[in-house]
Amino acid sequence: MWSNENFIGGHIALDFLNTVGDTDKSRSDNLITSPDVLLDWLTASNTEVEDAKGIPPSQDDVDALVRFRELAHRVLSYSLENNTVEPDDIQTFEAQIKSSLGRAHLDLGTAPARWITAGDNSHYWIDRFVLLVEGFLSSPEAAKLRQCEGCSWFFLNSGRGRGRRWCNMSTCGNRHKVAAHRKRLLDGDQR
Ligand SMILES: [Zn+2]
Repeated sequence: MWSNENFIGGHIALDFLNTVGDTDKSRSDNLITSPDVLLDWLTASNTEVEDAKGIPPSQDDVDALVRFRELAHRVLSYSLENNTVEPDDIQTFEAQIKSSLGRAHLDLGTAPARWITAGDNSHYWIDRFVLLVEGFLSSPEAAKLRQCEGCSWFFLNSGRGRGRRWCNMSTCGNRHKVAAHRKRLLDGDQR
């Protein structure tokens, strides 16, 4: 079910936040519905597939991941629009990151160093994704964060000037083109 179209974020943390299928901003079409789907997504993303051999994710892990994904999406969307994040959301978001970091180890084998989860605790799956999002937020890439004008997906904007507006030209970009064309035709009719 996953294709390259699902990995257009430019950072794996953004691809994770983009695991909804809505073509608008509603975030109602969750794509990570079961442990198997989560493992398929990891395989498709080409990241550390050996995870699957460790502690397999449970449905509770998946539900917790999806809740965290939506929380992170709200926090990032608000901050992008320069709006104040809901106090409850930011508190929960901070608390989640702090507890995941509290259980993590600092991997100095990479530069920049990164926090990794031990893999032998019951919080493994949630920690792994919380640390993924934390790693993105504290990276220089975070300054390039943009949100699609059509849907709720995030991506990195590396273009100059106004830059990229759509997650994907063949989906949201094309829908916009078709709508703009229709509007021009209608406007023409009224003249
Ligand atoms: Zn889009």
